[in-house]
Amino acid sequence: MLSSARTNILQLGRSRLAPHARRCYATTSTAEHRDVVIVGGGPAGLALASALSSSKAVRDSLRVTLVEAGDLVKIKEWQMPADSFHNRVSSITNASRGFLEEIGVWEWVDGARTQPIEDMQANARIAFTASDLPIQRTSHLTTMVENLNLQRASLRYLSRYPEVELLDNVKVQSITPDGSEGGSWPLVHLSDGRVIRARLLIGADGHNSPVRKYAGIESYGWAYDTHAIVATLHHAAPSPLSPPNSIHELWERVQKEWEAIPKEVCQNLIASMPRRVEAVIKAKGGHTKY
Ligand SMILES: Cc1cc2nc3c(=O)[nH]c(=O)nc-3n(C[C@H](O)[C@H](O)[C@H](O)COP(=O)(O)OP(=O)(O)OC[C@H]3O[C@@H](n4cnc5c(N)ncnc54)[C@H](O)[C@@H]3O)c2cc1C
Repeated sequence: MLSSARTNILQLGRSRLAPHARRCYATTSTAEHRDVVIVGGGPAGLALASALSSSKAVRDSLRVTLVEAGDLVKIKEWQMPADSFHNRVSSITNASRGFLEEIGVWEWVDGARTQPIEDMQANARIAFTASDLPIQRTSHLTTMVENLNLQRASLRYLSRYPEVELLDNVKVQSITPDGSEGGSWPLVHLSDGRVIRARLLIGADGHNSPVRKYAGIESYGWAYDTHAIVATLHHAAPSPLSPPNSIHELWERVQKEWEAIPKEVCQNLIASMPRRVEAVIKAKGGHTKY
């Protein structure tokens, strides 16, 4: 069981808490107390932990713990050859990217492994580009990033902030309401036997979220009765002679060629127009040297 598994406490910062915060935790309960407990160290949970630690006020006054069933050390040290990619990826909207830039995480993302998306097609019937968006400051719609690249960036960023406690290789086994002191704060039972009493419990724990179940938030779903393939394809750079993939691409290509016509060529065409018309009249609409 996981209780015997290695538990990496990557960062622990109790001693740096403000005296006020320490006083808040004086209690007779055996449970440990935290102001914020984030369950899940995927891109969402780690981004939230990073955002919280980017605020000095939060770092100084709140005890934040993230619990992750997997191995965060492995993720922090994740490496992959430059020409191969992990197939679990996320498309990061410009707003999400702006958020990650603002809190300082984006600079830790390996940019060489990201891909801006300029044009999307679904079923070859729906297509849209960045220019279709109402407010658009960039030429791309979104940026594809491997989840591990995002998670590694957050973990590298978080290593500067030991105030945020990261518990990995520990699973949340159950969540129960705290019956003591008339409180309704959740008690988070971990696979290593510890119990954490959370003032704010955040579920970033994926599709089978135990936090969602505890909160009584219903979910529903249905089968599409279809299969999908997720893959990373290596392909040759598109040739200017290959047919365009969409009307947008056709328009872009025409525009590019139009803008490439030198000004002199246009001026010569205008200047030669009377001569060419005269030649057509002389030939009575027949063939001319033009
Ligand atoms: C093959 C594949 C391809 C994808 N491609 C795309 C794509 O092209 N574009 C796109 O936008 N999205 C894509 N996605 C979806 C994207 O990866 C997810 O939306 C994203 O991972 C969600 O992040 P998250 O942090 O919310 O959850 P997750 O990444 O699922 O993280 C949840 C974390 O919670 C932890 N956890 C769960 N239960 C517990 C527990 N009881 N105790 C402790 N920890 C727990 C898990 O270990 C996990 O690390 C793809 C997903 C897959 C699987």
